[in-house]
Amino acid sequence: MKKMLKKLDLIQKLAESGNLTDCELKALLQSEDDDSQLFKAADKVRREVYSDEVYIRGLIEFTNYCKNNCYYCGIRCSNKNAVRYRLDREDILECCREGYRLGFRTFVLQGGEDPYYTDEIICDIVSSIRELYPDCAITLSIGEKPKASYKAYFDAGANRYLLRHETANEEHYGKLHPASMSLKNRKQCLYNLKDIGYQVGSGFMVGSPYQTVDNLIQDLRFLQDLQPDMIGIGPYITHKDTPFAEYENGSLAMTLRLISILRLMFPYALIPSTTALGTIDTQGRELGLKAGANVVMPNLSPVKVRKLYSLYENKICTGEEAAQCRGCLERRVESAGYRIVTAIGNVKKGCKKAKTV
Ligand code: SAH
Repeated sequence: MKKMLKKLDLIQKLAESGNLTDCELKALLQSEDDDSQLFKAADKVRREVYSDEVYIRGLIEFTNYCKNNCYYCGIRCSNKNAVRYRLDREDILECCREGYRLGFRTFVLQGGEDPYYTDEIICDIVSSIRELYPDCAITLSIGEKPKASYKAYFDAGANRYLLRHETANEEHYGKLHPASMSLKNRKQCLYNLKDIGYQVGSGFMVGSPYQTVDNLIQDLRFLQDLQPDMIGIGPYITHKDTPFAEYENGSLAMTLRLISILRLMFPYALIPSTTALGTIDTQGRELGLKAGANVVMPNLSPVKVRKLYSLYENKICTGEEAAQCRGCLERRVESAGYRIVTAIGNVKKGCKKAKTV
């Protein structure tokens, strides 16, 4: 058998070719050595493509009603302790107004799968934002819908969609979700979104219950097939009112390692340093940026509902007004050695593939 490459050689091969064999990926994911060389290689690639720029997305969590019952999620329909809320069009527009004032040019509307918001209502909200903010990107993250609904939102003015695949392994998917949900449908939704013309974001939780290293490799392979514009990963964090209450949180180290691997495999991807990462470690988001992430998604939701969008426990940034969050993040990003840019721009000149960011 061919001798396995040493960790440094693996990093070099990944940085140069953007890929590794399953066996090599496994070795990198399971290595117990320090990851500083991996972070360094990922940061080099991120700087070549994106310089020191960090993009901000304003997250508006507009409903915590959900018809689904995902075993890991705090807003699952059978959590009777969740206090439910919905924002109407005017509330959402108010968040956008404040966001725009603070320099946000992308609004991300995220929520549970809430049938109250019919396609007509979603289209009305999207077209109102589109009319008021023609220079902004509108991102939806409202779960699995029929292709015709995705098309209607797109025609109303939405241009990006975030839908994490959660895990690319059928069996693992079945352990995280009730039988009413399927990986097949989730993947189909992602391909439908791409086909319609959305910029698509996908991703997975790190350290979710029953996840194996082989599952993670499948996640990376699925992403190579999908080629999404954005890849969002964050540690699984337990919530006491779910069937997974007793499971441990995913680890900071594994999440950072995967961010770097993603950056090297997908040099052009937008990779957020997520709120979940900032929740498991006070320096989590800064470390995520240093490991190769280039997006942060601060919360623009009204403070009175922030705590209620409780996907997992101890979520950070639930007490501050948007302007405070914006200031805090600015400092954090700078302390990590990067710079928030607000305008919609392009990747560094000279890159093969200029892309709207
Ligand atoms: N209903 C939308 C939005 C889901 S919430 C959808 O289905 O896409 C956004 C993401 O939060 C999920 O995709 C999931 O990856 C993550 N999430 C949910 N529960 C979590 C938990 N307990 N720990 C960490 N991340 C979680």
